[in-house]
Amino acid sequence: MAVTIEFDDTRLTERINEPFKGIDETNSLGMSFVDFLSLGKDLSSRNHIYFYLFDNFDRYINEDSFLYSGIKEFIDICIKDSSLYTLDNFMFFLHMQGLSIPQHHIEYYFNTETVLEDLVNPYMQMSPMERAIRGFTKCDKSKNAITNVYTCDSIEDICIASLYHLIKLKTPIKICANCGKYFVALRRSDAIYCDRISPFNAAKTCKEDGSQRTFEEKLKMNEAEKLRRSVYQTLQMRIRRNPDDEYHKEYFENWKKEVDKWKNDIKKGKKTTEEFIEWLNWSKMR
Ligand SMILES: [Zn+2]
Repeated sequence: MAVTIEFDDTRLTERINEPFKGIDETNSLGMSFVDFLSLGKDLSSRNHIYFYLFDNFDRYINEDSFLYSGIKEFIDICIKDSSLYTLDNFMFFLHMQGLSIPQHHIEYYFNTETVLEDLVNPYMQMSPMERAIRGFTKCDKSKNAITNVYTCDSIEDICIASLYHLIKLKTPIKICANCGKYFVALRRSDAIYCDRISPFNAAKTCKEDGSQRTFEEKLKMNEAEKLRRSVYQTLQMRIRRNPDDEYHKEYFENWKKEVDKWKNDIKKGKKTTEEFIEWLNWSKMR
């Protein structure tokens, strides 16, 4: 069995290869790992490339498995406090769990089609090696690659290799503010949304849908705030017009408390802004 995961830091890709099973997939760097981490309860469906790679006991991994919960906890701690996301801490984590980084090596791919010597001025005197090196510095390097290849015997190995590599690249793992899944902030470390299809809109990615939804939520909040102020004034006016009516005063005091509770509930995600607007309209009528 020879499963390898190969990371290309220039193209920001990963390639998972298992020649005996005919598996050879290239994806965005760290993608398979964060997808695996995001499975949670869906682990039981075994619908992930890692499960197709190995025939051993790894097939029985579930949400409570030591490997799964341990690595997830480490990442969650680092998401909470990004200053803990260091190679040093990761090595200590591995040491605590008695784990190690899988065997790895560096692979070179050089485009051999170009005759490097032709790129150097033929009239300049130099040794063949110098001519080759000077030619290399001038050549088109877009087809070249230097990659890190990890040989893995288990799902655990792939997870450790992926996390180790991401930490070495100083690339953070985050939780998408739209779909709630883990993602690798590959190009922008301040990204808050992933590139998956949004669970709320199949025609958009989380990045597109998430920012749109935040924008709409803000508009709605503005609308609610305007309405709140207007109801506030209406209720206050009612008291001024009926200074002897205790009911109106009491109603107003209770209404203010209710508004605070609504704001809290919206902040905690227990209630929506739409419900708040509906309630405000209703409260004005009373
Ligand atoms: Zn997302």
